[in-house]
Amino acid sequence: MAEDPYTACAEQLARTPELVGRLLVDHSPTEDGWCRGHDGHQERFPCSIRRLAELARAHATTTGRLRTPA
Ligand SMILES: [Zn+2]
Repeated sequence: MAEDPYTACAEQLARTPELVGRLLVDHSPTEDGWCRGHDGHQERFPCSIRRLAELARAHATTTGRLRTPA
């Protein structure tokens, strides 16, 4: 079990590779360095959701559940 809630959340997210892949696509950087996954407000890239999705991807890759290009 993960030692902190953030990692635990990423581990849960890693169970659904489709969602992780979708988040990584949606939360991609604009040319100006903002995240394009947010309507109505701006967040710097990488935003918290992107970082969580990347952590989930890293976890899933480690456990062999998910293989996506970096
Ligand atoms: Zn975002």
